[in-house]
Amino acid sequence: MWLAKGLKRGTITTKFPKEEDKSIPKSLYDKDCGFSCFNSCMNGCEERDDEIEVRRKIPFNKSVHIFVLDVGSCSSCNREISLLGAPQYDMNRLGFFFTPVPRHADILLVIGEPTEKMIPVLKEAYEQMPKPKIVVTAGACANEKIEKIIKVDARVSGCPPQPIAILKALLMLTGRWNP
Ligand code: SF4
Repeated sequence: MWLAKGLKRGTITTKFPKEEDKSIPKSLYDKDCGFSCFNSCMNGCEERDDEIEVRRKIPFNKSVHIFVLDVGSCSSCNREISLLGAPQYDMNRLGFFFTPVPRHADILLVIGEPTEKMIPVLKEAYEQMPKPKIVVTAGACANEKIEKIIKVDARVSGCPPQPIAILKALLMLTGRWNP
C-alpha cells in the first residue's frame, strides 16, 4: 500500500535547477572554481595553495590533544581533517590525538566560516581550554574570519587544506619539526 502511494506521488525533494536561476548565488554555478567542495560554498574563496603560517612555537614534551571545531564549513575541510587519523597520515604515532572536549585540548583547530550562532560557541570553547590555548585555523573560510574573533597561532591555507599541510603545521607549532 505505502509502496503504491509512494510510486504515485513521485519524488517531492526539490531538484537543483539545471538552468541558471537568478535567485541563487552565481558562485553555485561557477564550474571553473576547481575547489573540491563541489561549489557548495558561497564565500568565493581565493586560497588554493597549502601554505603554512606559524606565528608561535610552543614545544611540547607530551602528547598533544586537539579539539576540532567546525563553525560553518561546507564539510570538505572536515573530510580532510578526519584523514589525519587514517593509516596514511596516522597522527597518533606522532603524539597527536583528537579530543571531544575543549577542556582537555591543547590545540583548538577551527574550520569554516563562523556563522552568527557559532561565534559564541567558538568563544566559549576558547575560554574552556587550558593554557597555552593554541589556535590553528585551516582552510580559506576560517583563515579569513577567525583571527578577528580570537588570537590565532597558525594558519593552513587551502580550500580545503591538505591533511599533510595540517600535520606539518602541528609539528612546527609543537617544536617537533623545524624545516
Ligand atoms: S575552506 Fe573548507 S569550508 Fe571553506 S569552502 Fe573551502 S573546503 Fe569548504
